[in-house]
This record gives sequence, structure tokens and C-alpha cells, in this order.
Amino acid sequence: MESDIANLKALHKICYGLYVVSSVRNEKLNGQIANTVFQITSSPPTVAVSINKQNLTHEFIQASKIFTVSVLLKETPMKFIGHFGFKSGREIDKFNEVNYKLGIIGAPIVLEYSVSYLEAEVVSAVDVGTHTVFIGTVIDADILSEGEPMTYAYYHTVKKGKSPKTAPTYIDEKNKKEENEMKKYRCTVCGYVYDPEEGDPDVGVSPGTPFEQLPDDWVCPVCGVEKTEFEEE
Ligand code: FE
Repeated sequence: MESDIANLKALHKICYGLYVVSSVRNEKLNGQIANTVFQITSSPPTVAVSINKQNLTHEFIQASKIFTVSVLLKETPMKFIGHFGFKSGREIDKFNEVNYKLGIIGAPIVLEYSVSYLEAEVVSAVDVGTHTVFIGTVIDADILSEGEPMTYAYYHTVKKGKSPKTAPTYIDEKNKKEENEMKKYRCTVCGYVYDPEEGDPDVGVSPGTPFEQLPDDWVCPVCGVEKTEFEEE
């Protein structure tokens, strides 16, 4: 959509974190990556999350009126973020093989790669078109580890993370021309770009490894598909 706004890049200067927002419906658990989680009042402690209406987590929060937030560590591997961010709970059980506990209000709390968590009960929901902003009173919360939380800027610039199209802050990559034309390869499923200069240190692929030399069992660190799903940029 064309816009009259002079420079939407100004919005990219807003700071965010990276979180897993989870909920439950009929004892089925689901969670997703979100960057738009923010505290809005302290008395009572209240937070807001912005969730895309297309996402299964949205249905769950709307039905159960509860959600949890796990604040992700800076060191969280891309694979873990991709598991919650680029896969749908309609196709897989995201909590299978993930370390979690059920909170006092019954929604799952991701414990892996988490600095802290909170549980909230929805007190208000604001329809903002593509998304709903759920506002919740914090019922319980705790610190899980000593590490630093990940910022969205770190995820994008250091981890080379991408936004799924359903994210509030999604940037249309087609409108961004890459400055150099090294042999980078793009995942056709999630848009992750393999940059040989960076490698994939999370799984031991050192910087300087060309795409062609990646092991056959290497998979997209974000969405988990095989090398064959990649094409040259
Ligand atoms: Fe991918």
C-alpha cells in the first residue's frame, strides 16, 4: 500500500524485545514469537500485547482470556525463535519437546532461553484492524535466569532475524535493495537469508562458509526447511 508518510523508517527506531506469548484453549497449548509486549501501568501491574488475528494464539487468548509472556535471552538460538515464530500451532504441537510449565492460571510458560516470565488475565481487548491489542493484569511473574534479554534490534542486526508477514513490524523485504551482491541464499519459506560471511554459528557453521559447502543436513535456522528450499538472492 502506498503511503504519504515521509519516512516510515522512523518507526524502525522504536525499541522492542523478543518474547514468546502463549495461551491455552480446551487444554491445547500454543505460543508464538511477539516483539510488541509492553508494560502500560504499574498499579496494578498491567501489560499489553499486540497479536495478529490470523494467528492461533490470537484465538486461544480470545477464548481463554489469559496469556503468558516469556522474555527471551539474548543467546536464544534462531532455531528456537523459528520454532515459535515461523511455524503454526495448527500444524504442529509447538510445546512438544519444549521445556515449559503450566502457570497458575493454566497457560503454558516457556522456560527455555527465558530471562523471566509473567502470567496475565485479559481485562480489555482493543481491535486495531489486523491485530488485537490484549491488555492484561499481571497475576504472577518471576525471574528465570541471570542473562540479558534480547532486543529486537539485536535479533535483526546480529542474529539476522526476519519478521513473519503477520508481525506488526513486518518489513517488505522486496522493497529493500541489498547493497552488495555476494552469493547469499534466501529461504523461500521464511525469507531468512544465509550470508556466507556470517555462517550459522548457532550450529557450528563458521563465518566464511559458502552455501554450497553447508552440510546436507543443514536446515534453515529460522523455519527448519532443507537447503533445497533456498534460492540465490
Ligand atoms: Fe526458512
